Amino acid sequence: MTLDEFTALLGPDRVVPGGPAASAWLRDFSWYSPVLENALADTTVDAVLRPRSVDELRGCVATAAELRVPVTLRGAGTGNYGQSLPLQRGVVVDVRDVAGVLDVASGRISVLPGTVLKDAEEAARLTGQELAIMPSTYRISTAAGFVSGGSGGIGGAAHGDLWDGNVLAVELLTVEERPRTVRLEGDDVRPVLHTYGTIGVLTRVELRLVPARDYTPVVVAFRDLPTLAGFAHDLVAGDVHVRLCSVHEAAGAAMLTPITSLFSPGEDVALVWVDSTRVEDLRELVGAAGGRTVDWAAKPHISQFPFSHTILWARKAEPASSWLQCEYASDRAGFLDQVAALRDRYPGVFLQHVEFATSAGRTRPLGITPLVGLPDHEVALEELIGFCRSLGMTVLNPHSYVVEEGGFVGDTGQVVALKTSCDPYGLLNPGKLGDSFFTSRGLTPPSARAAAARR
Ligand SMILES: Cc1cc2nc3c(=O)[nH]c(=O)nc-3n(C[C@H](O)[C@H](O)[C@H](O)COP(=O)(O)OP(=O)(O)OC[C@H]3O[C@@H](n4cnc5c(N)ncnc54)[C@H](O)[C@@H]3O)c2cc1C
Repeated sequence: MTLDEFTALLGPDRVVPGGPAASAWLRDFSWYSPVLENALADTTVDAVLRPRSVDELRGCVATAAELRVPVTLRGAGTGNYGQSLPLQRGVVVDVRDVAGVLDVASGRISVLPGTVLKDAEEAARLTGQELAIMPSTYRISTAAGFVSGGSGGIGGAAHGDLWDGNVLAVELLTVEERPRTVRLEGDDVRPVLHTYGTIGVLTRVELRLVPARDYTPVVVAFRDLPTLAGFAHDLVAGDVHVRLCSVHEAAGAAMLTPITSLFSPGEDVALVWVDSTRVEDLRELVGAAGGRTVDWAAKPHISQFPFSHTILWARKAEPASSWLQCEYASDRAGFLDQVAALRDRYPGVFLQHVEFATSAGRTRPLGITPLVGLPDHEVALEELIGFCRSLGMTVLNPHSYVVEEGGFVGDTGQVVALKTSCDPYGLLNPGKLGDSFFTSRGLTPPSARAAAARR
């Protein structure tokens, strides 16, 4: 593949040829998984493109379509499943310089794709609003990357996840010689949520805002995991507003090394980011339930520990550890039974770490679980997953780069329809939508179409 067309479009300083210079764009956080670390070790690319505007981005897409070159979009590269790593070479398009806040209205912020979410949050706060949800990586990750590769995060305890109306609209470019702009609103955005940039090239993202509050970080400590888990479930379901309630059993909490001085060894803890006007109410609730609260200094910031940040600390403490994602029962009793069963069956191995999302009034405990001391990733992991399923839990596989094996919760038919019209040559992030997406609907998968075209 020659880079001349792209260089003519962007200038030489905006086209990084494949090879050592491009290696920084071929890393993400898929090394959390030993399976993905292996599978993606040999990833290569023909060039990295760094457009500075939507017009330049459009030019990159049009040229790639003309040349039939695979296109993988990339934001900050903080994904955990190799979402932004190309499986079939081609070009990686880094959108971080296509950034900026376009508009802030009541309940809505509109941004360019590469806008860092922290900048969006700050712009929203200037108007007395805040992002309804944002990932714990909001200080570096981008709006398009979150919508295409993330799922939820901070704010989720009150406002749910990406699928709960928090992405109000997107605009995307189709991958054709003359790219069209397609606008999707409301439920129509669902096919682009967590489908790894396989549907279209996002050029505008509109996220839900809610009235801003001030928050105070507090550590809540108990000496019994099911008691803490029950307390956390009640807290999230109750009327004290929390932006975050991140539960860690004692063995996992001990790995959050920068903050272990805040609690005692053996204590199970919840990291709570509570509406500052309700701190005293929180203290009373904790005291009444038999726990204690500990004040948290401003640094390190509480966002450095919840969601997938927990796995970062676990991997630092136990480099051979792995992880799993799962969803517990939403009813309180069922959830607590599952917590107790896992504690009894996998002590010191399945280190329970639970985040919460509230979707349509339902309190959903979500496990992002460090796994320590598993003998292997085949038999032992399968057995553990089987045990979780036997308890009625949903298990999501973080050891795959294929969309439908991870946290995909969309409608396959809707995805296939939009994919077919927006990416007719199957050039977007090829290999990430599994063949089953297409074969289950009697359609030829893009991989087979591409193979036929090569013959
Ligand atoms: C420590 C840690 C904590 C995390 N915490 C959370 C969390 O709380 N919640 C959560 O949901 N995730 C979390 N993640 C995962 C990740 O950080 C977030 O999902 C983040 O928002 C991804 O943004 P990014 O800019 O890094 O995207 P990238 O990783 O660069 O890309 C993600 C996907 O978006 C696609 N993409 C990028 N730009 C475009 C575009 N313009 N058009 C179409 N597709 C595009 C890419 O192709 C890729 O498939 C965490 C990861 C780590 C390492």
